[in-house]
Amino acid sequence: MTEAYDVITVGGGLAGAALAKRLAENGMRVLVLEREVAFRDRVRGEQMHCWGVAEARTLGLYELLLEACGHEVRYWSDQLVGFSEFGRRDLVKTSPHRAGSLNFYHPDMQAVVIGAAASAGATVRRGARVVELISNGLPGVRVHEDGNGERVYRARLVVGADGRNSVCRRWGGFHVERDSEGMVIAGLLMEGLAAPEDRMSASVNPRRSMISLTVPLGAGRFRAYVSIHKDAIESTAAPLSGEANFPTFLTASITSGAPSKWYEAARAAGPLASYDARDTWVSHPHRAGLVLIGDAAASNDPSWGCGLSLTLRDVRVLADKLIASDDWSGAADDYAEEHDRHYGVIHRLTGWARALFYHPSLVAAAVRESALTRLVADRTRSLDIVGIGPDFPCDETTRRRFFGED
Ligand SMILES: Cc1cc2nc3c(=O)[nH]c(=O)nc-3n(C[C@H](O)[C@H](O)[C@H](O)COP(=O)(O)OP(=O)(O)OC[C@H]3O[C@@H](n4cnc5c(N)ncnc54)[C@H](O)[C@@H]3O)c2cc1C
Repeated sequence: MTEAYDVITVGGGLAGAALAKRLAENGMRVLVLEREVAFRDRVRGEQMHCWGVAEARTLGLYELLLEACGHEVRYWSDQLVGFSEFGRRDLVKTSPHRAGSLNFYHPDMQAVVIGAAASAGATVRRGARVVELISNGLPGVRVHEDGNGERVYRARLVVGADGRNSVCRRWGGFHVERDSEGMVIAGLLMEGLAAPEDRMSASVNPRRSMISLTVPLGAGRFRAYVSIHKDAIESTAAPLSGEANFPTFLTASITSGAPSKWYEAARAAGPLASYDARDTWVSHPHRAGLVLIGDAAASNDPSWGCGLSLTLRDVRVLADKLIASDDWSGAADDYAEEHDRHYGVIHRLTGWARALFYHPSLVAAAVRESALTRLVADRTRSLDIVGIGPDFPCDETTRRRFFGED
């Protein structure tokens, strides 16, 4: 039996569920297909930048998240090991949207947003794994549903929101690009950590090509991440994943510059997992009845914490275009163009920042010594990835000032 909808989302993570909520609120028939019956800790993003918070407000998600599972912090504290001690930025005062950083346990966030999609009128099927895209006639998907066998659903538009390992983009014939160099990121949920709960804490250690980021989630829980430039990892180094490597993760956090006393009573409260953090993306994420959003369209190096915010930017732009026009092919093309622009800015800014802060080559180290000294003395040289994100200028003047070439 075939059922027809306006929109089908493949995936009910932040991207698919937030889009479904927005479109269903505007009277569209939306089907969300999510393979997981219950969300689990996959070690994903749990800290949303100020510009993502602004998107969450526009999409009506901010209050829902804050009330159900959010922990908003006003301050961002960072140190550049070897260049500056911990300094504190008031995000609310200094970001254009007057927003802090919104943090949450990712599986809780997913449950809230998919619940909101259902409350808005979207049909949500869990335990529903999409196994094929159908492109003859009205676009459609073939799905294996737990306890329900195989079904086919069709819609005016299929939205691939199936994450960083998206198969929709392969089925759609998109060419996937990947940066040639980059970082490896590891993450772990922790309890008993003696880190501050009212701020984000970032410790950047350029001479070790590493960063440690500590995200307070409230009630004594923290998500901790460590990223290391791939070219700085010795071939004999223990992997930063698996329960047995918890001590290695703690050592890496401390080597990055996080105070060792924070970890004296720390214990793991979830899986330790690590990922190749290099960006992957497709250009123009729309073709013939299929649109990609969120990580399926572009996955920015998670070390910069932009993925959740970029996802909500995608959702807002695509939803607005679909709501405003009956020509959905044109609307999806407009979204794809705008996506290339906003992701392109983040990709460029984070690429510069990675080169300056983390690249382990001798040439990079020589540039870094003078550039970082100038940057610490004049913070207007920094790139505001946290506060402004894709609306920050990324022209040649900005680049030259950042690298101290002016
Ligand atoms: C280690 C790490 C740390 C990160 N830290 C941050 C951070 O601090 N801040 C930040 O902003 N971002 C961070 N990110 C990025 C952030 O997690 C992602 O950008 C965000 O989760 C993308 O949401 P999504 O909905 O596109 O994808 P996902 O969250 O991956 O959701 C995809 C959904 O699709 C479902 N699915 C997949 N295939 C199918 C199928 N065939 N059929 C049905 N359902 C399917 C999956 O079960 C999943 O629920 C991090 C990422 C990683 C890996």
